[in-house]
Amino acid sequence: MVFEKLEKRQIFVGEITAETPLHIGSGRPDIRIGEAISVLRNVKGVPYIPGSSIKGKVRTEAEKIARKLGYEVCNPPDTKKMCGSLKSDEKDLCIVCQIFGTAGEKISRASKVKFRDALPLEEVKEFEVRTGIALDRERGSVHRKALYTIEAVPAGTRFGFEMVAENLTDEELSLLLAAVKSVQDTGLGGSSTRGFGKVRVSIKRVHERTAEFYVGKKEERVLEGEELASWLRSKGVEL
Ligand SMILES: [Zn+2]
Repeated sequence: MVFEKLEKRQIFVGEITAETPLHIGSGRPDIRIGEAISVLRNVKGVPYIPGSSIKGKVRTEAEKIARKLGYEVCNPPDTKKMCGSLKSDEKDLCIVCQIFGTAGEKISRASKVKFRDALPLEEVKEFEVRTGIALDRERGSVHRKALYTIEAVPAGTRFGFEMVAENLTDEELSLLLAAVKSVQDTGLGGSSTRGFGKVRVSIKRVHERTAEFYVGKKEERVLEGEELASWLRSKGVEL
């Protein structure tokens, strides 16, 4: 067990814009014939993107990028194949487990990065509804009843984005930002085959806070505008 100290917390504030219709559903894999698949809504009936879905996508991209860059990376979601089961010492966790946490038989560690649920910045008044055709498995064919409809928020919908990262090394931060950038192309949510889910993530502001900030002894550092852009470029990304 490692006792953690707050060295540095970085809060990334920005927007996720749907560039094509976006369907964030409940994640149920099977589609029943005749079903209307609606988007996920919170208790107030507002469509949103759960932070856990964003995190899952970003982690997957981080794994793919890290492997290509020559890092040894474990294989979630099976915890038997994750560093938490494969390693005995926390310092031996792969870079992806260092950032996003790990679970397993020997080590379990929380993520150093958290994603807040992304809520729309303006009220979503109209939804897109598309009709799809599901294969009827019993008959092995497509027939009239095999239609379903899928609901999506329209292209152009903007959501608030907030990512909070703690004590990341420069190397970890660069991989995290590269993974966020990569999610723009792989998309969020379901039905990416029909062009759904392409998003643009833009970071508007970064707040850097230390333990001294929380006890009122030091100002936070706020990055925005041109300073933010050049800081991001120094990490290898434009977002
Ligand atoms: Zn790992």
